[in-house]
Formats: sequence, structure tokens, C-alpha cells
Amino acid sequence: MKYRSTRGDVKGVSFKDLLLSGYASDGGMLLPESFPQVSTESLRSWAGLTYEQLAYEVISLFITEEDIPADDLKGVLQRAFSTFTVPDVVPLTHLADGLTVVELYHGRSLAFKDLAMSCMGQFYNYFLSKSKQHMNLVVCTSGDTGSSAIEAVRGMSQVDIMVILPRDRCTVIQERQMTTVLDSNVHVYRADGSSDDIDIVVRKLFADTSFVSTNNLGSPSSLNFARILIQLVHFFYTYLKLCPSADKEVELILPTGGGGNVTAGTITRKMGLPVRFVCAVNKNNILSRIMDDGQCELGEVEGTLAPAMDIQFAYNLERVWYLCSGEDGDAIKKIMAQVDNNQVRIPANILNEMKSFVKVYTVSGDEEIKTTISRCWRENQYNICPHTAVGVSYFYQKLSDGTNSSSPSAVLATASPLKFPEAIRASGVPAPTSEKIETVLSAPTRFVDLEKSQDWTEIVKQKMIEATKSYGC
Ligand SMILES: *Cc1c(COP(=O)(O)O)cnc(C)c1O
Repeated sequence: MKYRSTRGDVKGVSFKDLLLSGYASDGGMLLPESFPQVSTESLRSWAGLTYEQLAYEVISLFITEEDIPADDLKGVLQRAFSTFTVPDVVPLTHLADGLTVVELYHGRSLAFKDLAMSCMGQFYNYFLSKSKQHMNLVVCTSGDTGSSAIEAVRGMSQVDIMVILPRDRCTVIQERQMTTVLDSNVHVYRADGSSDDIDIVVRKLFADTSFVSTNNLGSPSSLNFARILIQLVHFFYTYLKLCPSADKEVELILPTGGGGNVTAGTITRKMGLPVRFVCAVNKNNILSRIMDDGQCELGEVEGTLAPAMDIQFAYNLERVWYLCSGEDGDAIKKIMAQVDNNQVRIPANILNEMKSFVKVYTVSGDEEIKTTISRCWRENQYNICPHTAVGVSYFYQKLSDGTNSSSPSAVLATASPLKFPEAIRASGVPAPTSEKIETVLSAPTRFVDLEKSQDWTEIVKQKMIEATKSYGC
């Protein structure tokens, strides 16, 4: 299987190159050149598999023997999913009112990003060990990506990771999960600026192409298709838990930010999985406006109780639009030029195709999130995080409208409630505690502050050059 760009000018990229670089040189995003079809019979035959076995079946449709021999791929998946604290990796919990919650958050950093990131770490290790190379990763984060990436690669001698976080914009626990990791290959920077300021640093780093190649710079953000690929697995797994006979359509409710999950879901649908989606967003996200009239206009991001979803434009939409356009790179080039100018008109054919399987629900605000956390607790003594609550809000809304569908549905729970005690307490619910979080809050920290007066790009570059050199010794 090879990969090509959504803008049509790049083709024939191997899985290894896609993993290690992440970007398409024409500015687009990479996607598979074709989509293997999964028949109803195959689906049924997968219904009894463990998460790890199913992951192998799905991922080996894209990563073939030429890329990674079967036994090695199984080893990668085994090492990645063994970091999960529950044997079934992604347990489903059935609650009052017919609500089903898919707990994606039992990995090391307690957020769903661990599902893909733990595999990314193992893939990096696999290819770099073979080629005896070193790599520098850079991540900018205001939510869960940073700690998940750190957990995936800490202690690996062939990877150094630089994480830049915006000071005072993550929750205390999120920040501590990053700054308390003391492994020598982990470098955490706390910048006096916004996520946008930090994005500029990452863009500048990647724009220096000779620096990128001499220092093997890579990014495990959800721009990297390898992450999306691994996320296909939880859609197949959830579907088969809800409908092992594979004869019904299932509605999955996705707390949405950058749109990685809905992209993975869209691909599973293209492969033949009978699923449709509700993207549940907070008020920062302009997805619902885009879906209403094909337009968008960016403004200021306001903090909400669901910080990992405080994104205006789900950048992975470029992939979804491409898939909905009949894979028309020229149409995507046009749309993305408009996005850059903040004046979007999505062509009707693309919009209508997307509307045929994606609905958007916008939560009215933090009050609704709190009401939902509180109702879910009252009815079930079950805690949900504020991101998951955005999805559950949609479910409760439909219940009260009396419009809930008869087909099976579930909400994907994207982070553990353990990470968000403030939001839970603010909802009038006793916050859960755990030894893991207590330890993170009291452990020693190591990080570097980046002040406004400093050249952040240069500071991070110097650290990478140092890391590259010291691996050579
Ligand atoms: C990343 C994240 C999301 C958003 O997921 P996307 O795939 O980017 O839409 C939602 N909730 C939590 C807790 C996250 O960490």
C-alpha cells in the first residue's frame, strides 16, 4: 500500500516515509491510494477477536509484508497495547437510558491519544533500530497530545522529543503529566504565549528543509496519517461490540477537536463498515457553520471546560472533504486556498456527501457540560470527563426530544475523568482520585521556560542539534 496527498501532487509514499516525515511536500495531507473493502462475512468473523488481534487484521490491510513482516507487526502491536491497564484495551460500559460509553482512555496518559501514540512510539523504535538512526520529534500541545507522545517514547535511545506547551493554558494535571517526566530524551518547554504562537515555531522548524533532513525532524501530530490509521481499529472494535452480526448501521458520537477521529471513522465507512457519526463540538468549533452553509470564518478561541477540543477549525477536515469529493485533488486545492483566506465555500456535492453520514452537535456552553456530568453521575454513579460530556449531551438532548434512533449508538469517551477533577467538582459531583494523579502532582519537575524576549525556534533547534550529535557519539 502506498500513500498520496489530498492535493494530488504527491503519490507513491511508503508507510515508513509517511511515519517518519508526516507531511506531504505539496502542502496536502497523506491518505492511502486505495481503501481495502471488508465484507460482512469478514466483519462477522472478526467479532470474537481481542483488541490486539483485531488491530492486526485491520492494520495489516495497509501495512503489508513489504513494509513490516507480519511477526514484527504483531510484536509492535503487542508492545503498544500491553501498556493499557485493562485487558480488553477499550471496554464498553452500558448505562441508564440506553447510553453506551466506549472508554478509549485506559492508556498511560489517560487520554484516547494513547491508542495511536503507543503504536507510533513502537513504529519509530522499530524502523530506527533497523536503520541505526536517530530522530527528533516536535509536538506543540495545549491538551493531551504532549503527554501521550512523551509516554510513547520516553527512555528510547533513538528518539528525542521536544514538547512545547503554552504556559497557563493546560490544566495543572495535564502540565504536570509532561513536566514530571525526567527521562533524558524528553525536553519540555513552557512558552509564554498561545497555541498559535507555538504553532509558528513548529512551522518555522519544518520550513528549514536542510535542518529537517540533517536532524531527522518528525511530528506525531494527527497530521500524520499513521495515527489516523491506528485509530481505525477502535471504530471496528466498537462496531462489532455493538453489532456482532454486522447487519445494522451504528451511530457513533465523537467529541471532536482536530477531527482525527471523524477522519478515521470516515475511512472505516469507505471500507464498508456500516457507521455514521455525530461530531460533538464546543462553541469554539466552526464545524456546524461549515455544515450549515459551507462557510467559515475564524475568530478568537475561548477557553472552555473541554480544552482538548478548543480548536476552531478541524484541520483533518481536508481529508474528509477529499474522501467526500470522489478524491478530487483540484477541488481540495481550491477549498484550502479559501480556508487560508478565511472565505470558504464548500461545493454542494462535497457538502451533501458529508451530510449523508456526519451530523454536528454544538454544546451550548460550560453549563450544559456541567449539567451532563452531574446527570450522568446521578443516574449511574459514573464519572465522565468534560470532553466526553459534550458527546453525552447530544445523547441526552435526543432523549428529551424523543428523537433517539432505534439503531445502536455509543459515545466515544476521549479522556479519563481522573484528569479533570476541577470540571467534575464544578458540576457538583465528587471528583475521583487516583494514586497515579497524586504522584504526578507531587513529583519533581524538569522543564525550560521560554520567555517572550527569546528566540524560541533557535532554542529548540540548538537542543535538537545537540541530541543528533550525542547519538552519533
Ligand atoms: C484530542 C482530543 C479530542 C479531539 O479529538 P480529534 O480526533 O482531534 O477530533 C477530544 N477529546 C480529548 C480528550 C482529546 O484529547
